[in-house]
Amino acid sequence: MNIEQFYPLFLQSEKVTIDSRKIGKNDIFFAFSGENFNAATLAEKAIENGALAVIVEQEDFENKDNNIFYVPSTLDFLQELAIHHRNQLQIPIIGLTGSNGKTTTKEIIHAVLSEKFNVQYTFGNLNNHIGVPLTILSIKPEHEMAVIEMGANHQKEIELLCTISLPDYGYITNFGKAHLEGFGGFEGVIKGKSELYDYLKKNQKTIIVNENDPIQVEKTENYIPKITFGKNNSDYQFELFSEGNFVGLKYKEVKAVSKLTGEYNFTNLCAAASLGLHFGINFEKIKHAIENYTPTNMRSQVVKKEGKTLVLDTYNANPSSMTASLHNFITFEGSKTIIIGDMLELGEESEKEHQNILKLAQELGFNEIITVGKNFKSVNFSSESFENTAELIEYLKLNKIQSENILLKGSRGVALEKSIDFI
Ligand code: ATP
Ligand code: MG
Repeated sequence: MNIEQFYPLFLQSEKVTIDSRKIGKNDIFFAFSGENFNAATLAEKAIENGALAVIVEQEDFENKDNNIFYVPSTLDFLQELAIHHRNQLQIPIIGLTGSNGKTTTKEIIHAVLSEKFNVQYTFGNLNNHIGVPLTILSIKPEHEMAVIEMGANHQKEIELLCTISLPDYGYITNFGKAHLEGFGGFEGVIKGKSELYDYLKKNQKTIIVNENDPIQVEKTENYIPKITFGKNNSDYQFELFSEGNFVGLKYKEVKAVSKLTGEYNFTNLCAAASLGLHFGINFEKIKHAIENYTPTNMRSQVVKKEGKTLVLDTYNANPSSMTASLHNFITFEGSKTIIIGDMLELGEESEKEHQNILKLAQELGFNEIITVGKNFKSVNFSSESFENTAELIEYLKLNKIQSENILLKGSRGVALEKSIDFI
């Protein structure tokens, strides 16, 4: 089965899915074998559920249904189909990567560009070698643009995702201390993320540059085309301000206040606003988009609970985002408790990084510091150091947190959000 032959069938389909629970009529199902499922069983079930076609690797079952297609590798076929589809699309694609803030930036860019265009974008955090092709395949004729989040935890991953999404514009949110293990230290992070720049440069595509970031500046020096923000002589100039706990940006005397907390979100907003202005959206509309975007995804989210202010940042954590988050939270008015969870995937640097964060938290002077996870436990000898979220919950059942403000931040694996109901 080759891609050109299969493509017309794809064009008739409703959507492409790899999740057997989400198969609807006229969908194309890619059967990846999981731990609990056998791809062949899933394939038969998919056809029963009305799937238009099923792609499967195994050939060891009886079903000779015309709509089941055997391929040597389901993953390769998915990626190749996405590349083929991308090549037919005549729309600009904006590719995003970086250590922190990809999803947030993607969501704000989507909100801004949607003021004028019909924009497709990465759903949730589907940013890997499967998520990116799925997003590309979800682009329909009515879409005028797309924003694609590209995640990576090792070298050559972004390079691959670029060959699938062929971005026309690219932005690296930042270079931070995330996935140090897989990338081989901070230098490795810079190299790995810069694969986006390598692609854009090779193909003469536009780079969006935060001129306050020395690494971005250095990596894009003398390169055109680019769109810049951050400095007085940048293409677009924004001023940072905050209103209460929320961050805002000012453009030519017009203020837009977001519903995001954390100064680090300022650059995320600037990138989105720059793209908006570049695509001819006036700032009043950009303001409208920024003011109406409400994070609901445990990223820089502020919620009120029984008179207390909770900052939920439990989606992920690494030393750079943790540092930024603590510096932001210390500016909140009133008493403050932090509940911080382990930062995972740090490799050799792990112990030192956890120590550094604990020290920073102590220096900043929060009223109460609670840590969750084995890594913190090995460096935090206080009584408020718990091995996991379940232990934290047991503690919270007996001890009410007194502070007016509470920050929850930790890696995905720690799942600190499970404790919210007990606060
Ligand atoms: P993932 O690798 O899980 O996909 P991501 O890069 O998509 O992460 P987000 O989910 O948008 O990042 O944000 C995660 C957290 O990173 C935020 O809640 C915030 O604490 C922090 N963060 C967001 N933007 C920035 C930024 N520009 N610089 C530093 N930290 C940031
Ligand atoms: Mg993300």
